[in-house]
Amino acid sequence: MRFNTEKYIMYGLMVGMICGGVVGTWLGEDAVAFGFLGKLFLNALKMIIVPLIIFSMITGVTALGNVKKLGGLGGKTILYYSVTTGMAVVLGIIMVNIIQPGIGFTPETLPAGEGRLPAGEFSFLDVILNMFPPNIVEAAAKTNVMPLIVFSLVLGSVLTTLGDRSKPIIEIIGVLNDTILKIVHLIMLFAPIGVFGLVAGKLGAEGGGEAAWHELAKLSKYMLAVIIGLAVHGVIVLPSILYFLSGRSPLSYFRHVSKALMTAFSTASSSATLPVTLESVQVKAGVSNKTSSFVLPLGATINMDGTALYEAVAAIFIAQLYGIDLSFGAQVTIFLTATLASIGAAGIPEAGLVTMVMVLHAVNLPIEGIGAILAVDWFLDRCRTTVNVWGDTIGCAVIDRRLTTNQPPVDGD
Ligand code: ASP
Repeated sequence: MRFNTEKYIMYGLMVGMICGGVVGTWLGEDAVAFGFLGKLFLNALKMIIVPLIIFSMITGVTALGNVKKLGGLGGKTILYYSVTTGMAVVLGIIMVNIIQPGIGFTPETLPAGEGRLPAGEFSFLDVILNMFPPNIVEAAAKTNVMPLIVFSLVLGSVLTTLGDRSKPIIEIIGVLNDTILKIVHLIMLFAPIGVFGLVAGKLGAEGGGEAAWHELAKLSKYMLAVIIGLAVHGVIVLPSILYFLSGRSPLSYFRHVSKALMTAFSTASSSATLPVTLESVQVKAGVSNKTSSFVLPLGATINMDGTALYEAVAAIFIAQLYGIDLSFGAQVTIFLTATLASIGAAGIPEAGLVTMVMVLHAVNLPIEGIGAILAVDWFLDRCRTTVNVWGDTIGCAVIDRRLTTNQPPVDGD
């Protein structure tokens, strides 16, 4: 019988996650030792992010043929991502206003709120400045993804203007891109063990399953508001968009990209998941390389529906905790800033917490309120990252099918 690697990875990831949960719960702090396996997996994924982004963006851009087409695709991508992110934020605002998790709830320690900004203030201008760092090698060394995307876009675009002279180099980059995807597949053979290590190690660091559960239960109503919002967005809104705008079956598409979603949940990082996302969308879901090479790296960096929804819920929750009434205008400001803050958040664990400073600042809420939600962020981060990646993959299918090629769907299953 032939060894089916796809099935091994899929079921292996599920088993790895469950075993990690059981071992982490059972061994408590001793399970931290398994964190090493998780780190190994994470490092392997991170190791290929830089070449992957450069080769894949250049391949995508040069495959489009000319810069004008890139402008069209880029514009549509950004428009699509902004609209779906906006929808996620509205959903978050509705959820937190219905559930009102902060009313009548006093955390054990509620830091005095003076509305001060902590050191390292975050502003949207920083996001723009970050796109153009003075040293691209330094950006690569720090796995700073946004400048790499901008640099690769420019490089790819200019290559298309050089005619025949650039053909050999474009071909070589294409081969390197395929090679990187093969390496991703090799790394995924280790994924079940890596995921096991990530989950067991994290539960161990939280002091075991019981301690982690206790911590989560304290903020259960707040968590419920975030999780129900994420669930509605991930299970109803996004799949409907996929179905109506691309004609694909949401269930079969979910199966195609589930490897990426499980990796997102266990790593809490859209960027670290990007190699798996690209492989799943191109190889399993059959989305064209031309679209996905461009749309996915951009999505992993700027499209974070889950993060945007979470930031809106968290900000309004903090207002409720401090007994601050938010006017309609203030909620509109939260809508705008949560959308921008999610664009500015890097695809790394708990980046959303940092950019939330911007949301709180915009409506004059106490920054110290972040302290009240810190304890459960490790878990919510995993949930929102999964929705972030799900949103990226759906955006990619929609843009590929509907906006660039207009072909009828291929997988009616
Ligand atoms: N961890 C998230 C991601 O990588 C970002 C965040 O919300 O913290 O997509």
